[in-house]
Amino acid sequence: MNPLIANSKLADLHEKVSAGIRIDECDALRLFRSDDLNAIGLIANEVNRRKNGNRASFIVNRYINYSNYCILSCQFCSFARKKRDDDGFQLSRDQILTKAREALNLGITELHIVGGLHPSLPFDYYLDMVQSLKSLDPKLELKCFTAIEILHLSWLAKQSVRSTLSALKEAGLSSLTGGGAEIFRKAVRQQIARGKESAEEYLEVHRIWHGLGGRSTCTMLYGHVETPEDRVDHLRKLRILQDETGGFTGFVPLAYQPESNGIPVSCPPTGADSLKTIAVSRIYLDNIDHITAYWVGLGLGLAQVALNYGADDLHGTIIEEHIFHMAGAKSPQEQTREAMIKAIREAGRTPVQRNTFYEPLWQSGDDPSPAQRAAPTAG
Ligand code: SF4
Repeated sequence: MNPLIANSKLADLHEKVSAGIRIDECDALRLFRSDDLNAIGLIANEVNRRKNGNRASFIVNRYINYSNYCILSCQFCSFARKKRDDDGFQLSRDQILTKAREALNLGITELHIVGGLHPSLPFDYYLDMVQSLKSLDPKLELKCFTAIEILHLSWLAKQSVRSTLSALKEAGLSSLTGGGAEIFRKAVRQQIARGKESAEEYLEVHRIWHGLGGRSTCTMLYGHVETPEDRVDHLRKLRILQDETGGFTGFVPLAYQPESNGIPVSCPPTGADSLKTIAVSRIYLDNIDHITAYWVGLGLGLAQVALNYGADDLHGTIIEEHIFHMAGAKSPQEQTREAMIKAIREAGRTPVQRNTFYEPLWQSGDDPSPAQRAAPTAG
C-alpha cells in the first residue's frame, strides 16, 4: 500500500475500495470532510485506473445555444434573459445550420445544444432543428437538451415525456445532456433554482430516456450554498438510478461560477475542493464509468491535474461557450485538439479522442483521424 495512504486516517476506506466493496454515504461524507486530499486522490486514481487504465479522453465538439430567453429565473443563472433585455438572443434555423456546417469542416463529431425555456418557439422548431442538423451528416452526434427543456418541450408538444423523447430520437437526437441537476435536495433547489423541475422530475426524464435505449450524462453543480451532506445525497440519487438503468455514460461535476447572479457566494470553489469533489465522485459512483474534469469551469490547468484525482475525461473543444462565461468563467472559449492532447500527455495519460458515448475514435499512436487533420491548430 502506498505509505501516504497506509499512514492516513483513510486507510480503512482504501482497503474497502481495494477489495471492491462499495462505499456507503457515511464513507462518502467522511471523504468530503477529510482534508487529506493526497490520500483521497490516490484512492480515486486507483479506482479510475482499474476502470479506464491509463487512457484519458476528450471529444471534438461544438456548443450551440439556440436561445437564452427563458420563462424561468433560477437564482444562480447568469445566462437567461427576458424579451425586454437587449442582450437576449435567438438563433434561426439557418444560423444554427451555418454554425454546424463550419464546425463539421473543423472535424467535430458532436454538437452539444441547450437553451433556455423559450416563451414562444413551437415544438416544431426543436424537431426541425434536430432533423435538419442530422441531415447535414448522419454520423454527426446530437447531444441536446436538459431534463427541464424536455419537460418544456413535452408541454409544448402536448405529449407525454415518453412520446416527446421518442419523436426527438426519431428525428436524430443521440443523447440527452446532464445539465440542470444542480443539487437535488429541495431546500437547496429552493435557494438556487426556484421554479425548476424537482429532483424526481429530472431523474424521471433520464429514466424514461434510458428506457427508450437512450444514453445521457449527469451533473452536479457544487460550491454555492450546499453542504457536504447535500452533495452526498445528490450522488446517492444518481447512483440509485444508474443501478436501475445503467444509462449514464459519464458524470460531470460543475464548479459554480459566482458572477452576475442572485446567489451571494464570495468566491468560487477552490482548486482543492474541486479536486476532492471529482475524487469522491469517482470513488462513490462505482457504477458510472467516466468522470469529466470540465475545463470550462476549472481552467485547463486544474482539469489536467484532476486526471490524477479520478477524472478520465476533459470534455471537448467546445468552440463557443456562453453559460459559464456569462457567469464569469475566465477560461477561453475553445480548446484546440492539440491543447487537449498535450494536457493529457503531460498528465502522464494516453490521449483518446472519443465519441458522444465515450467510445474511442482515435488513440495516441494511431494514424491521424479526419478530425485531427481538420481541427483548428494552436494559435
Ligand atoms: S438555469 Fe436554465 S431554466 Fe433556469 S433560468 Fe437559467 S436557462 Fe432558465
